[in-house]
Amino acid sequence: MNEETLQEIQQVYGVENWSSGYFDINRKGHITVRPVKGDLRQVDLKELVDSLLRDRKLQLPLLIRFPQILTSQLRALSAAYQNAITEYGYQAHHYPVFPMKVNPRREVVEEFLRDSARCRVGLECGSKAELYAAIAQEQTPESLLLCNGFKDEAFVKTAMLGVVAGKRVVIIVEKLNELKMVIKVAQQLGAAPLIGLRAKLYSRGSGKWASSGGDSAKFGLTTSEILDCVRMLSEAKLDSQLKLLHFHIGSQITDIKRVKNAMKEAARVYAKLRQIGCNIEFLDIGGGLGVDYDGSKTRYESSVNYSVQEFANDVVYVVQSICDEENVPHPNLVTESGRFMSAYHSIFITSIRDEIETFADDKPEVTIDEDDPQVITELKELCDSINGKNFAEYYHDALEHKDGLHTQFNLGLISLEDRAKGEVLFWEVCARALAESELSKAPGEEFEHLKKILAQKYLCNFSLFRSAPDSWAIGQLFPVVPIHRLNESPSDYATLVDVTCDSDGKIDRFVDLKDVKETLELHNWNDGEDYYLGIFLTGAYQEVMGSYHNLFGAPNEAHVVVDNDGRSHVTKIVSGSRITDMMQFARYEISGLVESFRKQVSSRVTGGGLSPDQAEQLVQQYAQGANSGTYLE
Ligand SMILES: *Cc1c(COP(=O)(O)O)cnc(C)c1O
Repeated sequence: MNEETLQEIQQVYGVENWSSGYFDINRKGHITVRPVKGDLRQVDLKELVDSLLRDRKLQLPLLIRFPQILTSQLRALSAAYQNAITEYGYQAHHYPVFPMKVNPRREVVEEFLRDSARCRVGLECGSKAELYAAIAQEQTPESLLLCNGFKDEAFVKTAMLGVVAGKRVVIIVEKLNELKMVIKVAQQLGAAPLIGLRAKLYSRGSGKWASSGGDSAKFGLTTSEILDCVRMLSEAKLDSQLKLLHFHIGSQITDIKRVKNAMKEAARVYAKLRQIGCNIEFLDIGGGLGVDYDGSKTRYESSVNYSVQEFANDVVYVVQSICDEENVPHPNLVTESGRFMSAYHSIFITSIRDEIETFADDKPEVTIDEDDPQVITELKELCDSINGKNFAEYYHDALEHKDGLHTQFNLGLISLEDRAKGEVLFWEVCARALAESELSKAPGEEFEHLKKILAQKYLCNFSLFRSAPDSWAIGQLFPVVPIHRLNESPSDYATLVDVTCDSDGKIDRFVDLKDVKETLELHNWNDGEDYYLGIFLTGAYQEVMGSYHNLFGAPNEAHVVVDNDGRSHVTKIVSGSRITDMMQFARYEISGLVESFRKQVSSRVTGGGLSPDQAEQLVQQYAQGANSGTYLE
């Protein structure tokens, strides 16, 4: 592949900007994946997908999980804090915990805990179900099991199972009533968990989740409630259990200044609590460490204007300065950076299945007859003489003619044939105007819009609601890139639509260094060709928040690890949902459905419309259908 094409491709898809050292493009023009940031070992993603489809008989869509990337991100996080701790001479440790709500999958959680002895990684849970899974996990004794979220007595009692089993469980109190409950349960059982207090900070994050912090945040204790808690604990003689102060100012904090401000406030709260005699040992700074989805390194909502090292440096530096100033010991720093730990590890692969025809694709030959209405001959004239100087003016003229065409049609003045001719000519003028505008230096905004209208619309075999729901729900950007043909310049502009019947099931916003692109550059695609697209950085939140809209189920899944010699191994395949699974989800029973179908077919037999053999065959065919997948084959 020549250097020039590579540079063009890098500019178009920005792989090196958002890859964080995990993704690259090789000489064959394929995307490659590194199991460890910046490693020499690389997996050719296109060849991997080909072999999964060919040798393992899997079908797209496909989620590919790289567990090693989870570990690599955890270690990157841990190393960033360790560096800062060493550099500033900070007198306490870093305790990473993984918040299960970000990706509760067993393989993800277990992969992190495998590193537990090395970097004290623990878990954070926010519900009884998450806690239930977490309680049974093996963690190194030093690591933490944090309980956030709203709790009832059953939640607290489940947490106590962990306490009695010898785990380092911290119940983080979000509301005064929870503390009353914790005290009651502790007195009943004669054993108490470690206790944390979640503070409502005045400081806010930035970006989409800014309202998770600040005065009107959903969670956390006000200053006077914190003081009440301290009093209640002391009265119950449980003050020695108060070990942690927590805050969380929202996910994906885009601006590093917000982190510093929140840290200053939280460190002061910690210091003042120490000074009134609370022996708090852990300052839990929550999540919020962002992922640079578009690679722009800006404060834009899909980006962040800092690196993990800067984030860690600021946290350590600010806490240290304030503690030194207030003359209190440095607390251990707990982080709950779920997005950062998990976003990179999974890649979602789909393929183009079809093209959605639009007016702009409709290009039959148009011949002009002498008696054609004037509006048509004028459109033809524009079409034939448009050029680099007049394209904007001619485009405006064409817009007027199109209005004229439809007015005349509505008045009954022109025929259906004429209307068809006029429309074809109009879109031809648009296409030519767009082509001229691309060559011009300052094409103007209206041509950006025209580009989107004229873009190809490709039908891709996936459900946005299942596999990248945040793209729909909150307009979050994910990098979308063909995983092959990256040694050819792309020639088309496209938007993507999924296979659900929902017109929101589309991707028409794409990452870009300076802006958001409304169309994605793709290669010319012909019906029947394999063209695979990867949606990257989907490992945080997408899997668990995805829904079964239209009863499209989980995609097939493959787990891939790379050995020391650089060979990749598929360690696990998890089949995607079958139609039976979706029936169960919607509370149908397969046997009931088959019986009901059989009854209906039988009535046709009695009526003489079908032979009994034919009827039995239909029933068999229906019954077997339950085993097929939910996506296009
Ligand atoms: C959601 C959440 C997190 C995870 O935040 P990220 O931005 O994904 O790191 C951490 N802590 C709490 C309390 C949360 O609610």
